[in-house]
Amino acid sequence: MNSIAVCLAQRPVGLPGPECFTLREAPLPTPGEGEVLVAVYFISIDPAMRGWMNEGKSYIPPVQLGDVMRALAVGEVVESRAPGFAAGDWVRGAFGVQSHCAVPAKGLSKIDPVLAPPARWLGGLGMPGMTAYFGLLDVCAHREGDIVLVSAANGAVGSVVGQLAKARGSKVIGVAGGPEKCRHVVETYGFDACIDYKSEQVARRVRDLAPDGIDIYFDNVGGETLEAALANLRKGARIGICGAIGDYNDMAHMKGPRNYLNLLIYSARMQGFVIFDYAARYAEAEAALTAQYRDGKLTLAEHIEKGLARFPEVLAMLFDGRNTAKLVLEV
Ligand code: NDP
Repeated sequence: MNSIAVCLAQRPVGLPGPECFTLREAPLPTPGEGEVLVAVYFISIDPAMRGWMNEGKSYIPPVQLGDVMRALAVGEVVESRAPGFAAGDWVRGAFGVQSHCAVPAKGLSKIDPVLAPPARWLGGLGMPGMTAYFGLLDVCAHREGDIVLVSAANGAVGSVVGQLAKARGSKVIGVAGGPEKCRHVVETYGFDACIDYKSEQVARRVRDLAPDGIDIYFDNVGGETLEAALANLRKGARIGICGAIGDYNDMAHMKGPRNYLNLLIYSARMQGFVIFDYAARYAEAEAALTAQYRDGKLTLAEHIEKGLARFPEVLAMLFDGRNTAKLVLEV
């Protein structure tokens, strides 16, 4: 049996197409001392992958040309040469876009496939869930009663942000693309309202829904939605810059918000963050999210596409909104 990997073949300009990747087949790796061999079953497809393909300095080094595309994933231990892990264990780690890998046991975490389906540990019970948790509670310093606006509200991070804020007594307004997603955000995730940025004027709708302004804007998209949020601040508001997916494929032409001076007028602040800032506190977030999920107070969903070779096509779904929930590639 061979292992199949998706490797970065060239750096993309704009949306990464199939020409940016090659499939590499090789014999199954053999785990060394302290390592385990993992059969990878579900791969997390994340907007951050686009940034990892660019050359240059960022919060993490870029994927090198010829290397296996970086990805978080879950799978099953096939062979273990590390204490604490045995064949049959379900594990999560940075396994990459490939079918098998031999990795050091350090850095792996076990997941419980009985509590939640394996792919869910890549979404609301994984990195996106933790991003929502720390972004809302720490970066945006959420307080009970805050009025919260969240973009990409139907997505992996946004849907959890809204539910956490609702559970803590907030009025929550989402922003998403299209009537179907907006309906889903309200009916399934329990947001108070959701604005369709594709057909509605976001700034005006926020004003209608929150006439006294918003306390928190959790920004996943950047661009005009960020400007719409800045136009509707309340005194002491906090904006958490989690991402700007609307700009990832054309960073050279990114425009800053024209009305940033509203931060001054409303004594507001805007702060960016990366989830790695919170590495020392991952266990706290996972415990909180798992408890809320176990109690039936956190609704989570995944959009699963199948086939390793389809990676480029599946990645593109994030950037035109075809993903209907946390996007996962099944090997
Ligand atoms: P999602 O599951 O939300 O999927 C991405 C969604 O983005 C799409 O479904 C689409 O929703 C929306 N989108 C795509 N293009 C645009 C656009 N041009 N304008 C507005 N919306 C757009 O992804 P995630 O939850 O995984 O990620 C959400 C954000 O969080 C990203 O910016 C990501 O980079 C960021 N992130 C940041 C982390 C950090 O450490 N700071 C960690 C994890 C994620 P729709 O159909 O509604 O338009």
